[in-house]
Amino acid sequence: MSHDYEALGLVAGLEIHQQLDTETKLFCNCPTERREPSASTRSFTRYLHPTKSELGELDDAALEESRVDREFRYLAFDTTCLVEEDDEPPRRLDGEALETALEIAALLDCTVVDRAHVMRKIVVDGSNTSGFQRSTLVATDGKIETEDGSVGIADMLLEEESAARIEERDDGVTYGLDRLGIPLVEIGTEPDIRTPRQAREAAERIGMMLRSTGRVKRGLGTIRQDVNVSIEEGARVEMKGVQSLEDIDDLVEGEVARQVELLDIAAELRANDASVADPIDVTAVFEETDSGVIAGADAVRAIRLEGFDGLVGREIQPDRRLGTELSDHATRHGAGGIFHTDELPAYGVTASEVESLRAAVDADGSDAVALVAAEAAVAETAIEAVADRAEAATEGVPEETRGANEDGTSRYLRPLPGAARMYPETDVPPVAPDPSEIDPPELLTERVERYRSELGLDSGLAEQVAYGRHMTIFERAVERGVDPTTAAGTLESTLTELRRDDVPVGELTGSALLNTLEAVERGDLAKEGIAPVLSELAADPGLSVPEAIESAGLAGVDREAVRETVREVVERNGEQVESEGMGAFSALMGECMGALRGKADGEVVSELLREEIGERS
Ligand code: ADP
Ligand code: MG
Repeated sequence: MSHDYEALGLVAGLEIHQQLDTETKLFCNCPTERREPSASTRSFTRYLHPTKSELGELDDAALEESRVDREFRYLAFDTTCLVEEDDEPPRRLDGEALETALEIAALLDCTVVDRAHVMRKIVVDGSNTSGFQRSTLVATDGKIETEDGSVGIADMLLEEESAARIEERDDGVTYGLDRLGIPLVEIGTEPDIRTPRQAREAAERIGMMLRSTGRVKRGLGTIRQDVNVSIEEGARVEMKGVQSLEDIDDLVEGEVARQVELLDIAAELRANDASVADPIDVTAVFEETDSGVIAGADAVRAIRLEGFDGLVGREIQPDRRLGTELSDHATRHGAGGIFHTDELPAYGVTASEVESLRAAVDADGSDAVALVAAEAAVAETAIEAVADRAEAATEGVPEETRGANEDGTSRYLRPLPGAARMYPETDVPPVAPDPSEIDPPELLTERVERYRSELGLDSGLAEQVAYGRHMTIFERAVERGVDPTTAAGTLESTLTELRRDDVPVGELTGSALLNTLEAVERGDLAKEGIAPVLSELAADPGLSVPEAIESAGLAGVDREAVRETVREVVERNGEQVESEGMGAFSALMGECMGALRGKADGEVVSELLREEIGERS
């Protein structure tokens, strides 16, 4: 499905959150590594109550979240400090994080603020022990280019990552403090994006710039995109949790489709003079029901949706109907979902029960009825939420925060957060960033080109290395004189092959890789010996490279020893050499390499073999 985005007035903007790979956290000296809970992991419990922001009222999102009083449990690791537990004030804004942020600002063509003030942003979901997230505006007014025109960068902030949600129960949540306080940059674009494709391209370009610093975290959850979408007659909807960049265009397209359909439905509802009646207790209708869901509930509440007949079941996204939107609101308040007359009789509800249901709420043929079956208190609040959402359907598209689903659709999460949530963090003094000290990093796109033209890597390998996890090691190896193709091949192909053979390559440190490559450069190790030596080092990270060479049985093969082996092979095959001359080369080369078992460099062996054959034929 494709729409005329220009005619519809599509407007989109992105918010990109990227974790930085710094030594220490943003406000304390703890490491930024993620941890697995173990038997020695401590935990403590807090109850958070919403307080009014010093600058204004609690916003809708905060209010809705805080309606339920919940218990928060925090996992503290041996690296967790009092700052993370909120028992000590924050220390300082981490310099490495700020420097990285300034590099990003330079790439985004932003203007850096004169003074960076740390602010507090209220969070009530327990994801921060202090009850707020610290956020610092670093730069504004940048832009990036896309094929469909430039996209403004509104602002760039340095924030602290929230605690990781580990487990959710009815009465509370468990969070891990390993993630809390990891530096995070948040980049917000201007609402300049006009097509789904441009949204994806802008996100990809910003992602590439972030990686160009070489100082961003990699892997699942380390970058998160929020995509904001509206069409002219619709409303701004913020979609969270986009899994991968390739999904962004589908997500924007899906949201346009949803808004178009909701506007269509709204127009029909208005033409029907549609309205939503007050909820009614219809528990009695289902006294004898065979529907498992309803029979298992204490109470059933229903609403008459006047003039909604046929529209609740109308599809607005693949496999999602207006009824699904209503259902999301019921779910949010603890119900399992809703039933509505556009889909009944079904789920064990009979035709005669539907008839009684209609009678009970005084619905005629042009009306629909929606019901929630649950524990009485839940049914009551859930049906109210469904009624509010149905009411909004007569007006069009509600502004809201939604969660991205994997198939390009999305589901209701909560109202859009308001803006009145920031007040100054008095424990951290403002800093004056100095952008003149900053060298903007080379873009990965330029790096790929340089690897190709200057270092002679083929395009595929150049891209693999530049975008890969070992780019910094590659750069250092080349700097120290290692042949670029050998370095790239080792860091990309060899490591991948070893991983496939279940070698724990994750254990290999940067210096182990670098020292192994240098051993090759010095002539202490043949290229063919790289894989066995890395296997040794992965199995026993305490080994030095010379020790690993030794324990791989590859030590001490100098040029003379190689010549000796080659000479032996040539002598053993004397007849063949005499009759075929250089024609015997390939066969003998194989035999020599076999005899040397990776202890000697192929090029050296080949050179010496040529000499030896030459002398004898
Ligand atoms: P807030 O003050 O709520 O953070 P912003 O103006 O900063 O709102 O916008 C948040 C995000 O929404 C940005 O990515 C921006 O580009 C985008 N955005 C703003 N207005 C619209 C709109 N009308 N339609 C779609 N996206 C929008
Ligand atoms: Mg904003």
